[in-house]
Amino acid sequence: MRALSKILPCLYCLPAFIFAFGLNLPCAFSQSGKGELRTVTLAQYRNLEYVALGDLAAYLNLRTFYSEKARKMILYVGDTEVKVTAMNPFVQIDDRMAQLPYEAHYADEDLLVPLHAFAELIRPLYRGTWPERLKKSTARDSTSATSSLTRAPNIVKIAVEGKTNGTLIRIQTTQPFARRHVSTRFSRGWMYVDIVGGKIASNAPTSIQGASIVKEVRPVQTGMVTQLSFRLEKEIDANQLNISNQGNTILVSLPTQEVVPEAVLRNLEMDRQKWRIDTIVLDPGHGGRDPGAIGPGGTKEKEITLQVALRLKKLIEKELGLRVVMTRENDTFIKLDERTAMANSAQGKVFISLHCNANKSRRVDGTTTYFLGPAKTDEALEVALLENSVVKYENENGGTAHSDEEFILTAMAQNAFHHESEGFAQIIQEEMQSLVGLPDRGVEQAGFRVLVGASMPNVLVEMAFISNRKEEQLLGSGETQQKIARAIMHSIKRFKEKYEQGS
Ligand SMILES: [Zn+2]
Repeated sequence: MRALSKILPCLYCLPAFIFAFGLNLPCAFSQSGKGELRTVTLAQYRNLEYVALGDLAAYLNLRTFYSEKARKMILYVGDTEVKVTAMNPFVQIDDRMAQLPYEAHYADEDLLVPLHAFAELIRPLYRGTWPERLKKSTARDSTSATSSLTRAPNIVKIAVEGKTNGTLIRIQTTQPFARRHVSTRFSRGWMYVDIVGGKIASNAPTSIQGASIVKEVRPVQTGMVTQLSFRLEKEIDANQLNISNQGNTILVSLPTQEVVPEAVLRNLEMDRQKWRIDTIVLDPGHGGRDPGAIGPGGTKEKEITLQVALRLKKLIEKELGLRVVMTRENDTFIKLDERTAMANSAQGKVFISLHCNANKSRRVDGTTTYFLGPAKTDEALEVALLENSVVKYENENGGTAHSDEEFILTAMAQNAFHHESEGFAQIIQEEMQSLVGLPDRGVEQAGFRVLVGASMPNVLVEMAFISNRKEEQLLGSGETQQKIARAIMHSIKRFKEKYEQGS
């Protein structure tokens, strides 16, 4: 972590603030009297003072912990942990949440926070004499926050619609909002959706239609954040919540658990009890007119997925003595929903879809295993969109394309094997690590169409990046293909042992 004062102002300002605020320069450094606490002021917010947390901690003699991966910093103030996360206006103080007038910004391995608002948050926790420098009133912060109210409104309508399998909230905006600027929280029967940089129109209509679990909508504007509060009829599982952005609409979907009919649940329960993992469904991704991703050397994803699947089939049959059903055994095109339909009718007990990842950057590499669920990261969402794009080949044949929101709700309602799938994905990552050894990109969840509807634990393995020259070559080699097949075979063995032992 580098302290602000060690860096030249210009070098420091430019990249960080172009990133954070567009081109709203200039910003200016101020050096304040005897405390030597350096702050930056931002023209954008009427010279509201920002401070690098690292600098503030040093100034107050506080210990810190910083995670570059999570872009999160913890300040230890007295006995209290104060957690700040980049791009987030919420500060966690032990298990309490507080809100800053503006989000914290990431800048060069440090986080910037509005100085006075943040100082007020930690002042009651501080042991020792509070420095004169920080005794300024928070008036400046609130003035700046209020001044933002002169911005033009960009949130114009909120519509809540009850659907058969859940509730869909459409927040109509006049500009797209990055996913990271939308956050949610639940508290005492209310769901709060915070939109950083939002400004709600004073006459924005709100409506609730159909049988919805949302009973009331209340918009509140505080500084740079629009907070939409939704009173809920009953508690929902926060993990099932999904947010997606479609152009100028922010979609928030709240699936209702009861959409899975009780008879189906009973059957599932019975199935679970007599569950024996005896049939494995292998789904080599893509095929026929859908080549999948194509590597810089011309390797097609559809070829690799089939080659690995055929090797894996042999291994499973030979070493585990289990039945293997393949969704395709040659270069043919098969629709996504047909793949899971085949798996279900074959009474498969595990569904494994094999794929190769691709990225615009040729440098990106490694293995990721996905299971079905609402995407938690932008990267996971991108990969899902890429793999789902096969639907465009289906439409040539008159296949049905569900709208994305419908898809998201269905996906979550049907995912009765969430925990098993997650556990299985974890095992696969471990085995891939130890037997293939490509960089570990971890387990992720996302809404893959091919996984929707599979009535069994299901995963999608992105074995490696075909867009990376080195991994493209590895994927094409029989030796690596065999290692991957072996890793997945081992995973099935481990999963079977664990699952059948009684979970
Ligand atoms: Zn694929």
